[in-house]
Amino acid sequence: MSDPFVVIGGDAAGLSAASKCKREDPDREVVVYEQSEWISYAHCGMPYYIKGEVERLDNLLSLSPAEVAERGIDLHRGHEVVDIDPESQTVSVQGPDEAFEQPYGDLLVATGARALTAPIEGTDLDDVFTMHHMDSAAAVRAFLTPPDSEEGFDAGYADVTEVVEEYRNRDPPETVAIVGGGYVGVEMAEAFRARGLETHLYQRSERPVPPFGEAVGDRVVDSLAEAGVDLHLDTAVESLAGEGRLERVEATDGAVDVDLALVGIGIRPNTDLVADHVECGDSGAITTDDYGRTSVDGVYAAGDCAEMRHTVTGTQEWVPLGLTANRAGRAIGQTVAGDPEPVGAIAGTAVLKAFELECGRTGIVDDDSAREAGFDPLSETVTAGSRSGYYPGNAETTVTLVADRETGRLLGGTIAGEDRAAIRIDTVATALEGGLTVSELERLDLAYAPPFSPVWDPVLVAAKVLGGRLDDT
Ligand SMILES: Cc1cc2nc3c(=O)[nH]c(=O)nc-3n(C[C@H](O)[C@H](O)[C@H](O)COP(=O)(O)OP(=O)(O)OC[C@H]3O[C@@H](n4cnc5c(N)ncnc54)[C@H](O)[C@@H]3O)c2cc1C
Repeated sequence: MSDPFVVIGGDAAGLSAASKCKREDPDREVVVYEQSEWISYAHCGMPYYIKGEVERLDNLLSLSPAEVAERGIDLHRGHEVVDIDPESQTVSVQGPDEAFEQPYGDLLVATGARALTAPIEGTDLDDVFTMHHMDSAAAVRAFLTPPDSEEGFDAGYADVTEVVEEYRNRDPPETVAIVGGGYVGVEMAEAFRARGLETHLYQRSERPVPPFGEAVGDRVVDSLAEAGVDLHLDTAVESLAGEGRLERVEATDGAVDVDLALVGIGIRPNTDLVADHVECGDSGAITTDDYGRTSVDGVYAAGDCAEMRHTVTGTQEWVPLGLTANRAGRAIGQTVAGDPEPVGAIAGTAVLKAFELECGRTGIVDDDSAREAGFDPLSETVTAGSRSGYYPGNAETTVTLVADRETGRLLGGTIAGEDRAAIRIDTVATALEGGLTVSELERLDLAYAPPFSPVWDPVLVAAKVLGGRLDDT
């Protein structure tokens, strides 16, 4: 029987798995199918490409098709896997010129996620974008670039001529609407403001970036307002309206004329291909075990299309992020090469830049989610300096920690501040992975010198205050 390792999807999870498998077992046949022209690209850098901080589109590309081939991986771009048959262990592939069946020994589903637009009406109008493809990034940047400029569109092995030509000769937009105040919306607000556009950001709830909790959300509101973003909070966008081309956004607080709309209201796991064959969770993402195995023998799943075990709750959760995809893919590559490696758990650790404000979150950060997971939560928010008070650059850093009242175990935390705040969340993430209590966190031997931190790092200050309250209960 033919025994290739077949991978569906040629980005973070898929190519990490293919590369690791080939490195560990050079004799194994490894075949990757990617439906688009793009492979190994950085979604995460697209807002900064549009802002202009990242100069060229090909700066966002990591491995080229030639480098993948050099690794001995049989890569097929422009090939969509349209069906899988676990019984005969084959996938059906639609290439540009032909359709064929591909047998597999092991199969990895690494199909990622797709941007949501429903239930907002009018998202099919011209000049309405989502930010989930390199082509969209090229189109938005072309739209924002003055007609006579040639810069920024080198796309390496891919071709964006058509999409760039369509937008580059148009008058650049002056007013934009961002629908959704999640991390993509906030990052895009920074990109649009940097290009001098009047920027309206709509968020259905009271604060942006809900997964970062209230204390961070409040600081993000201040940061966006200070940067001149027109915030429409507690406001639902009902439709995007116009004759063929977008003309205005209609929301519960009225209508605004806009030239471009960016819809960032969330994503869904891309699992239509496999949903009838493998078990999926409530999130719609594929259920996996500690080695990335699905409910079907020989079929693995990783990245934005898969659930993973949560560090704190121990249950399957869907948290689609970059490291999660790369790490799980790499571990699966090693496993199918014959040396089983766990994919690791997730704590939902995420960081975000909202103009000058840096934000971080990890674990369970709100009381309701903690209660749902069976804990009795106690949380505390403190504001502390980022460096010694007398040292230049000291900035207010807001830390929230959440713990279980009964055991004192740390459940999660958030952070916001303008002086290297985001990276401090890694201390909290490490504490979660180690299952530390608040008093154990408080006793960590963290580094101190005036240019970097006060004697008591802001995370330690929060742990001390929360620890005191736990002692009193
Ligand atoms: C604008 C933006 C900013 C982001 N910023 C961050 C950040 O700062 N930090 C962070 O941790 N994460 C960030 N992310 C998320 C991160 O990019 C994803 O978690 C990561 O790319 C997931 O990798 P993946 O391989 O699972 O999926 P993807 O990168 O989506 O790759 C899946 C691939 O599968 C292909 N495919 C799908 N179906 C088929 C099929 N049937 N046949 C063949 N090919 C198929 C797709 O074309 C795609 O190339 C960001 C995402 C976006 C959109």
